[in-house]
Amino acid sequence: MTLLDGKAAAAELRGRVKERAAAYEAAHGRKPGLAVVMIGEDPASQIYVRNKTKACEEAGIRHFTRFLPATVSQKEAEGVVEGLAADENVHGILVQLPLPRGLDGGALLAKIPPEKDVDGFSALNIGKLSAGEEGTVACTPLGIMRLLERYEIPIEGKRAVVIGRSNIVGKPMAMLLLNANATVTVCHSKTKGLAEICGEADILVAAAGRAKLVTADMVKEGAVVVDVGMNRGEDGKLCGDVDFAGVEKKASYLTPVPGGVGPMTVAALLENTVAAAERSAR
Ligand code: NAP
Repeated sequence: MTLLDGKAAAAELRGRVKERAAAYEAAHGRKPGLAVVMIGEDPASQIYVRNKTKACEEAGIRHFTRFLPATVSQKEAEGVVEGLAADENVHGILVQLPLPRGLDGGALLAKIPPEKDVDGFSALNIGKLSAGEEGTVACTPLGIMRLLERYEIPIEGKRAVVIGRSNIVGKPMAMLLLNANATVTVCHSKTKGLAEICGEADILVAAAGRAKLVTADMVKEGAVVVDVGMNRGEDGKLCGDVDFAGVEKKASYLTPVPGGVGPMTVAALLENTVAAAERSAR
């Protein structure tokens, strides 16, 4: 079994992004810019935001982080996003989720113009992905595709199974695999016969958020297994959706948790930001 090393692949991707950011700065006299809007004090979100701003600094991307209190009104929060949308130094905007209760996330995200939507959550970008057109793709599925590319894993003609149908991971992941000519099945909490369906997969992506949902008996010999899940195990440690110890004996490739999909997600965000800056200059 070969480990799909997300840390190493992300470092390579970040290196390429840094070169593009430097080329953009040389041509346009300013860095690509990413704005992160963080509302409230969710501890996990604070860590993610810190990681993103550090990654921006290392890649030569200017960051504009706006911390707003959990008590902020919808109008004030929308005003902040509108201000960033109008700022020509800001090429990408992301609102860190989840939001505190009482805020209308859909209405807030709708204030991000599609060309600055570096999370790929806007209806336009989702539509472009569905139509197989160039647009911005959600960071986690894009990062997974970059990881598969890095290890030269063939996708065309393969049977792919995605567990999870969220708008931010499962659905765009399934669409990317379909666009890459895999034959794709999407499973969810109401799926009957999950184990048999998974057992047919050449490429299995687990994004359910259920610790050790995928066990060795569900995995085909030689399958490529990508574990998106980030769960706390009974011992309090971070673990994925895949029972690593069992599945590593059957998979040909497997992502670890941590150190697999997570670092690729951040690197893909940087890629999306630089791509947005490049597009804005065209
Ligand atoms: P989500 O919105 O909660 O969606 C989970 C999906 O899994 C849903 O479609 C759900 O089905 C399905 N599901 C839940 N239990 C299932 C089961 N027992 N069998 C089959 N399907 C099941 O979660 P998400 O935002 O997509 O995230 C999924 C996981 O990835 C989480 O652990 C999250 O922390 C992690 N994540 C990691 C990264 C990273 O960078 N590493 C990024 C994003 C998310 P229904 O639709 O029927 O409810």
